[in-house]
Amino acid sequence: MSTNTHYIDGRFVEDRISGRIAVYNPASEEQIAEIPDGPAEVVDAAVDAARKAQPAWSELPPIERAGYVKAIAEKIRAKVDILAETISREQGKVVSLARGEVLGMAGLMDYMAEWARRIEGEIIASDRKGETIYLNRVPIGVVAGILPWNFPFYLIGRKLAPALVAGNTIVIKPSEETPLNAFLFAELADEVGLPKGVFNMVSGRGRTTGAALSGHPGIDLVSFTGSVPTGVAIMEAAAKNLTRVNLELGGKAPAIVLKDADLDLAVEAITASRVINTGQVCNCAERIFVERQVADEFTDRFVKRMAAVTYGDPIAEPTVDMGPLVNALQLDKVEAMVERAREAGASVALGGKRAERNCGHHYEPTVLTGCTPDMEIMRKEIFGPVAPIAVVEDADEAVHYANDTEYGLTSSLYTQDLNKAMRVTRRLQFGETYINRENGEAYQGFHAGRKKSGIGGADGKHGFYEYMETQAVYIQHG
Ligand code: NAD
Repeated sequence: MSTNTHYIDGRFVEDRISGRIAVYNPASEEQIAEIPDGPAEVVDAAVDAARKAQPAWSELPPIERAGYVKAIAEKIRAKVDILAETISREQGKVVSLARGEVLGMAGLMDYMAEWARRIEGEIIASDRKGETIYLNRVPIGVVAGILPWNFPFYLIGRKLAPALVAGNTIVIKPSEETPLNAFLFAELADEVGLPKGVFNMVSGRGRTTGAALSGHPGIDLVSFTGSVPTGVAIMEAAAKNLTRVNLELGGKAPAIVLKDADLDLAVEAITASRVINTGQVCNCAERIFVERQVADEFTDRFVKRMAAVTYGDPIAEPTVDMGPLVNALQLDKVEAMVERAREAGASVALGGKRAERNCGHHYEPTVLTGCTPDMEIMRKEIFGPVAPIAVVEDADEAVHYANDTEYGLTSSLYTQDLNKAMRVTRRLQFGETYINRENGEAYQGFHAGRKKSGIGGADGKHGFYEYMETQAVYIQHG
């Protein structure tokens, strides 16, 4: 398959005019492909195709639309090996996690397909004689899905499945770091005979293709997952046309370990959360607050557990726990943040440096102690396998510092006291809180950030309805 293409109006369209973007394997640092940097004309063609296809698509019964979504999910399951390997090769995550991403995405597609028979309106009593009022749920129109690199395949399904089942058409732009899995997805969508123009994919960079898409007057909703600065840029571009936005942005999840926590469980769960996808997950534990009475014991056990984490090339060494960071920029960023934390007074209890290997953007599993809530490492998203620990005096102080952040995506809490858990949870200003476990949201939940972590949300009933408008109808009938 040529990747010098875009998928527009039901076919792969060769792009001979745009500049090229190289795609690298972050473990070997070898170039593995190149894609075009689609200009505004390409975006115009994709949006045009989506607009033309939308009326007929929206008139299909929802269950028929859902049938296509389920058919793609079936194809995905059949291709799990090649999809997982592709994701691992371009993004660097371990293959078992990539398989989980692929199968999880197929499951999410199936879940969203179930909404076809659950789309509901409302009938409301009127103040007027002989009048019926009803609220109808209708599709929004054309959705733009702009995707990040950290769960590139899962995010295609998270945006496409609710959009299509609800009767919208879609144009997606994968991250230029991890576009290859999206080409495979387009092939599968093509194989199931999805009507032309319902799904379109444009390849390119954020500042070219992404900017053209988010500022396009033919787009009715921009559904974006990525960083806060890009979310702001997208909102500004969308504002020109008053286009709706759904933004899933960064996080700085606190993990709070109280004195009555099951420490074995806390150590295991926080380690897994901190090293999954090499720490590059928006909702994984980014800072740890531990109550003084158990701080030493927790830290000792946590350092030992993190020291056992292995890393390497996920394809060549398939048993490792972590792969490399996604690119050299990310590695430099993590390295510089740890350096500044050290200068600010944090102690390196484990790791604290880039790995000494011949190739690959690897960073050692790292634990920093003696951190204080004002340090940059406790305030800015790290996106690497680095766990900073701060000691707190009690649950109140933990809640105070946990909330003292511009982010509000996820948080976790470890305690065996149910009453305390409920009291603390109510005060945590995050879209999601995990009690005695770590990140991993359910299809039927609601993944939504507060504060700068986003606007709107994904998954479940509320996530599905983000892709529909409410139309009020007034019938005067004698
Ligand atoms: P990013 O913001 O750099 O890029 C995301 C996408 O936006 C890419 O496709 C990029 O090409 C595009 N883009 C960049 N500039 C653009 C512009 N001006 N206009 C339009 N599009 C533009 O994010 P990333 O580095 O790919 O992903 C990591 C970030 O994503 C982290 O901050 C992470 O927390 C966040 N994230 C959040 C969630 C969530 O559910 N809240 C999930 C995954 C990742």
